[in-house]
Amino acid sequence: MAVLGGTVIVGAGIGGLAVALALRQYGISVRVIEKADKLLNVGAGVQISANGFRVLTALGIGSVCSKSSIKARAVELIAYKSAQTVCKLDIGKYNNGLTHLMMHRADLINILFNSCIDAGVSFSFGERVILVSNDTKPEIVTTLNRYRPEVAICADGVHSVGRKSILGHARPYFTGNVAWRALVPNTTDHPEVARIYMGPKKHVVTYPIRDRSVVNLVLIEERDAWIKESWSEKGDANTLRRSFCDFDLGIGDLLSNVQTTHVWGLFRHPVAHKWHAGGVVLLGDAAHPTLPFMAQGANLALEDAWVLAKCLSKTSALKMGLQSYQDLRKSRVEEIISLAEGNTWKYHLAFPPLRWAAHKTMWTMSKLMPRRVVRQFDWIYRYDVTAEP
Ligand SMILES: Cc1cc2nc3c(=O)[nH]c(=O)nc-3n(C[C@H](O)[C@H](O)[C@H](O)COP(=O)(O)OP(=O)(O)OC[C@H]3O[C@@H](n4cnc5c(N)ncnc54)[C@H](O)[C@@H]3O)c2cc1C
Repeated sequence: MAVLGGTVIVGAGIGGLAVALALRQYGISVRVIEKADKLLNVGAGVQISANGFRVLTALGIGSVCSKSSIKARAVELIAYKSAQTVCKLDIGKYNNGLTHLMMHRADLINILFNSCIDAGVSFSFGERVILVSNDTKPEIVTTLNRYRPEVAICADGVHSVGRKSILGHARPYFTGNVAWRALVPNTTDHPEVARIYMGPKKHVVTYPIRDRSVVNLVLIEERDAWIKESWSEKGDANTLRRSFCDFDLGIGDLLSNVQTTHVWGLFRHPVAHKWHAGGVVLLGDAAHPTLPFMAQGANLALEDAWVLAKCLSKTSALKMGLQSYQDLRKSRVEEIISLAEGNTWKYHLAFPPLRWAAHKTMWTMSKLMPRRVVRQFDWIYRYDVTAEP
């Protein structure tokens, strides 16, 4: 069956849902196609920093997201064995007014989805896109339909079909890092802070979600063996515990409570050099997957969503609109992603004297100039994409 007209979005992830909602604010009708049978309920947390939160607020869901989240007071960098704080970014004190949320992914996805339904977005679940082409007008071939929309927004994540149609096949390379994830009960009275435990060739991120009843764990480990890039790849809890048994201080109790865990191979993909062609456009991870070391992937997808909707609403010349979207987004995205890539070695220092010296420097800086240490990331967090003309 052929379906004509309108805007079709591939992918009901954070990016796809946010752009659907943003487009509805301009009265543009949209259909979202999602391969999963229902909303992806990934059992994991997500940090939404102030730049992403501004988009949620502009979409009218800032307060409901706040109510379902925990507001972070600080980010602490901690030595893995002594559990001593190496550096504290006191967001509450030095970045007053900026909202940094820690929430369950499923809560964010559900809030976005319900708002999309209220706004009149139509959805098709259990429909996998097989082919996207961009010759003259976009064409989307799925397991159920063939669409000829005016615009095809591909928000279909790291394995994007749309990206292949624009850029051809690319081979990302394995960074040698894998990310374990798990949710555990908050038996350690984890405060409202995001903690990063730094050890040789490994680090662990912990933060509370859902009224502090649950702690989200992300555990990054350097490895030679290749692992799939997927939210659904299961891991073994005992292997996880063995891998991180030297991280016993502070997080030992949390690790012993891990029942199920998933593991995600971290690959490096270049930022797409071209984000659109013939009415097909990429958004979020489809355009620019990032390593999770600045917790910005979802935040960047939210920013993209806002800018793309605005660019599409402002012009009748589609190609110009899509080009201004790319121009407005690409360099900021590249800068943040390269910062995230640079964080790997800083967290994973293995040579003890070097680690000691680096931690000492961080400690001194955070004692002598705590405000500066927090405000060094102003260009990321204070950025308000919704205020751009
Ligand atoms: C361990 C880890 C922790 C992270 N923590 C954070 C964090 O704290 N903060 C942050 O900002 N970012 C974080 N990120 C990054 C963030 O998760 C991603 O950048 C974000 O989810 C990207 O959203 P997206 O909508 O672009 O893609 P996705 O979330 O991948 O959504 C893509 C959607 O498209 C659907 N789809 C895919 N292919 C097809 C197809 N062929 N047909 C139809 N549908 C399709 C998928 O089922 C999915 O629903 C983390 C990433 C990892 C790996």
